[in-house]
Amino acid sequence: MTADPHRARPPARAVRAWAVRRWPLWELPQRLAVSVLVVEATALGLVIAAAARLPAPEPLQLAHAALLGGLGVLHTEIAIGVERLRRRVMVGNHANLSSVWTFAGALVLPPACAAAVAVVVHLHVWARTGRPRVPLYRSVYSAATIVLACLGAGAVVALLGSGPRPLTAVGIPGIVLALLVYTTINTGLVAGAIAMSAPQPDLARVLGRWDDNLLEFATLSLGGLTAVALVVNPWLVLLALLPLVVLHRAVLVRHLEEAANIDGKTGLLNAVAWHAQAERLLQRSSPADGPRGVLVLDLDHFKAVNDTHGHIAGDQVLAAVAGAVRAEVRESDLVGRFGGEEFVVLLAGPAGAPSELEAVAERIRNRVSNLRVEIPTPDGPLTISGLTVSIGVASAPAEGADLRTLLQVADTALYAAKRAGRNVVRTGTPPSSGSPVGSRRGGEQTPGSGWIVDGE
Ligand code: GH3
Ligand code: MG
Ligand code: MG
Repeated sequence: MTADPHRARPPARAVRAWAVRRWPLWELPQRLAVSVLVVEATALGLVIAAAARLPAPEPLQLAHAALLGGLGVLHTEIAIGVERLRRRVMVGNHANLSSVWTFAGALVLPPACAAAVAVVVHLHVWARTGRPRVPLYRSVYSAATIVLACLGAGAVVALLGSGPRPLTAVGIPGIVLALLVYTTINTGLVAGAIAMSAPQPDLARVLGRWDDNLLEFATLSLGGLTAVALVVNPWLVLLALLPLVVLHRAVLVRHLEEAANIDGKTGLLNAVAWHAQAERLLQRSSPADGPRGVLVLDLDHFKAVNDTHGHIAGDQVLAAVAGAVRAEVRESDLVGRFGGEEFVVLLAGPAGAPSELEAVAERIRNRVSNLRVEIPTPDGPLTISGLTVSIGVASAPAEGADLRTLLQVADTALYAAKRAGRNVVRTGTPPSSGSPVGSRRGGEQTPGSGWIVDGE
């Protein structure tokens, strides 16, 4: 796994490597910067200690290291177009397909050679993947985590194996154990860095998605096979290259599919994807599932944020609000960006009574009003606060069974919220029922002003 370039990433600045004081590393929170340096120093120290303790590598081991490193570089060169596109579109953590070569090295090479393969392959990927490029410190940190993972996997083989071919001696259980140690160290260190860098780390993001982890296991399994092939006959290793390139393309297709569904500024579903998924979810639901609901949210006076602080700051506010909405609903609820500064949520049942939908909307309203968005600027950090959002709520099946009706009802309730002075939650009822529209502001119940229709 490789460290996640943040979704709403500020544009990379070109900083010369020798301008140590201006390294982006120093802009990290102190705790995180220290942890990064400790991990890097530990990796370096352990490699030096292992190299000093063990005899110099034999020529055959050096040849195997050169072969794995060379194939890693060749793999990157063949797949460079695919990898560049993948990095541009991907969301969240991603499996590192180069681990085929680094894990194979960890299983068959002495620690210093395995570390050299990992560093060469990893930094070559960094140098060749072009812009937007992750800052060098992140790539160095990722390389350090991979070196530590290699040392851990290598230690399993060294401890359990014996004789001239320790890898064959450890057999499948030893390789599986080494794989688990490798992925645990690597994922653990990357997840730790993500948890420290996110203001409110969510577990799903820190641990990564199950299909990303599956891909990581698949890649490492191919690395295990490559290591066995290397021991049996080094030429067999070439057979790993083609499946890996094909796997790389398949992964790109999946990332493109994801990217087509995701709004780039907020990481939420875009309007088209939200609609499609919401339709499916509603069709699958039965009355027994209990009421479900739609919330339509619109930031209040958002134009003023852009006018005062600029569009880039406005974009970061949108990302922060998206995070606030996501944080107040369950994983199974669908959150989308409808466009501009409008968001939409389908609360997927069993949600409880309609009043619970209102309570969720109220929690979101409250969270947004307490949001403080920190924006780095050349003159120091700027904090934007005092944001508010108006929310319209429609519950299913009481106010409509189909998505179109629910959206209409919630949208009309949203207009009612705007008319009621903003920073308000309003619930809608179908026009035919003639029931009043309830509203809340700042946690207080205020009398409803009735159903607001278009043009009112
Ligand atoms: P109201 O309370 O009535 O909703 O006022 P408002 O200012 O939020 O609404 P209005 O429709 O007047 O303005 C919406 C603003 O949202 C204007 C537009 O520039 C801004 N906006 C839309 N999309 C984006 C975006 O992707 N990024 C940024 N930064 N601003 C956006
Ligand atoms: Mg709007
Ligand atoms: Mg608005």
